[in-house]
Amino acid sequence: VKKRIVAGNWKMFVASREDARALALALRKKLRGASGVDVYVAPPAPFLFEVANILESSPIRVGAQALSQWEGGAHTGEASAAMLKNAGALFSIVGHSERREGGESETVVRAELERAVAAGLAPILCVGERSRGEGGEQFSAIEEQLASALKNIPKNTLKKLIIAYEPVWAIGKGAQDAMKPADLEEMVIFIRKVLADLLDRTEALRIPVLYGGSVEAQNASALIKEGGVNGFLVGRASTSLDSFLAILAAIR
Ligand code: PEP
Repeated sequence: VKKRIVAGNWKMFVASREDARALALALRKKLRGASGVDVYVAPPAPFLFEVANILESSPIRVGAQALSQWEGGAHTGEASAAMLKNAGALFSIVGHSERREGGESETVVRAELERAVAAGLAPILCVGERSRGEGGEQFSAIEEQLASALKNIPKNTLKKLIIAYEPVWAIGKGAQDAMKPADLEEMVIFIRKVLADLLDRTEALRIPVLYGGSVEAQNASALIKEGGVNGFLVGRASTSLDSFLAILAAIR
């Protein structure tokens, strides 16, 4: 995989329709041409349709922060993969740690992944250990999350899969608390090995692996150069135009 990917997860930080419009319009203006980086943004669900409309003829891809494990029917408050696609989503984040924390189980994450794939949404599957231990517990944690989400998944459905490695302890901090590039590189090698064991080898090599957790312009370039990742999933720093553009400039 050569093309770099930077995906912005707006979470609930972009809190109004006006702010979502303004950020989308500014991104459209600033990222008009090919930039060598594939840019994705995931606005809050109520603003997805509008942001997707604004970015329709731009190179920026719009997607959902989450999707339902259900296909349809009596599930109050849920949004299905097909509905999100219909509203303009091209991808969906799946199994973000903030949702796993809220009770989303491995079984639910797997169901969501299957729904995304079935509807034609590119899944950005998030995995990440809660903490690190002397005994390398983080490696078994990641292996379990990947195996449970991907085991027995039909081979030809993985073409659009993106993995986001997001160590929970590194999310929502400052750049100095993000992962060190050498530790990231070690984990990315491990993730690629697990993927190659779980899936077809050639297919596994094509899957982009992103890093997420306190990425800012200051640490982006070292993380991409030494960390072995194909790009980033960015939370907080994706919600201000300047900091998001600075990250894109840092890795270009
Ligand atoms: C995230 O939660 O996906 C994330 C990477 O957040 P932040 O960049 O704010 O740490």
